[in-house]
Amino acid sequence: MSYALTIGGSDSSGGAGIQADLTTFQENQTNGATVITCITAQNSHVVKEVLPLPSHIIASQIDAVFEALPIKAVKIGMLYDADTIRIIAEKLRQWHPAYVVLDPVMIASSGYTLLDKEAVETLCRELFPLATVVTPNLHEAEALLNRACIDFIASGESLLRYGSQAVLIKGGHHKKQKGWDCLITKEGEPLWLKQSTIHTKEVHGTGCRLSSAIASFLAKGFTLRDAVFHGKSYVHRFIQR
Ligand code: PLP
Repeated sequence: MSYALTIGGSDSSGGAGIQADLTTFQENQTNGATVITCITAQNSHVVKEVLPLPSHIIASQIDAVFEALPIKAVKIGMLYDADTIRIIAEKLRQWHPAYVVLDPVMIASSGYTLLDKEAVETLCRELFPLATVVTPNLHEAEALLNRACIDFIASGESLLRYGSQAVLIKGGHHKKQKGWDCLITKEGEPLWLKQSTIHTKEVHGTGCRLSSAIASFLAKGFTLRDAVFHGKSYVHRFIQR
């Protein structure tokens, strides 16, 4: 059995965050471990409160997991502040897992901030260079680039300059190319993943599930392209349930 770790926030409603990641790991036949960065009191409509955990307990959770488990892939989700980002980067440099899927979570679909504005630069500097793939949605790609993301391939190439091996831009919010995602890698052609739109109000946690499904497939030995393809199919099936 393969092992993956999720580092992120707890979502009290279970729809997103580490709760969604763990079920995604399980549904994709991967053993999951968790490192909690913050506790959120939220549901799909509102984030009531966020309690970031101290850096030492985040570091200690990471050590405890890597000391005991053969973690192959790490998914990173909600980080909330710069101190958290710095300690995770330090620990990942120490334990250097084979694959890191970085979901640059910034704002919940309910509209609440999940990452300090000042922490965005730290995220790019400290964690992008450690990432196998970064998975921004359209809004996050625009916030990271500080400009509109019209051409996915050009935007992805710009994001690659922060040092990740690949970028998956998710087009769920795009007006024309709704549901089209594009994987841009340092080497090789861009890969478009086009799926028909599913009309649903319940999208809370789909971003979390995509990045953790990709981490599952990477942990199981799939190539990045195949992991992204299968991850996207998994989320498509999940939304249809
Ligand atoms: N809450 C937590 C703890 C998360 O990790 C995430 C996404 O990663 C969210 C909320 C946001 O989920 P959504 O934007 O799907 O509502």
